[in-house]
Amino acid sequence: MTRKPAPKVARKLDVAAPTTKCCASCGKDRPVAKFLPSRFVADGFIDTCKTCTYANADSDRRQRETRKRPAGGVAVAATESPLRRKAW
Ligand SMILES: [Zn+2]
Repeated sequence: MTRKPAPKVARKLDVAAPTTKCCASCGKDRPVAKFLPSRFVADGFIDTCKTCTYANADSDRRQRETRKRPAGGVAVAATESPLRRKAW
């Protein structure tokens, strides 16, 4: 096995910067300004429009009240690697 799977970040869409997007929740075509940006999605915006997202988040939040999410997230390591630094 010598072949590596292509990195997903390199994937490009045929259409350059779409101005509208179909909401996966309400099914309406809306300007991308109505969608929240996301770096996890290929076109840069989440699949549901802000209206649906906030509506869903509101009901989701009640279900998740008991569950705490981890604080902080990924800690960024020091800019200087200790391996590259030599004391002598
Ligand atoms: Zn929607």
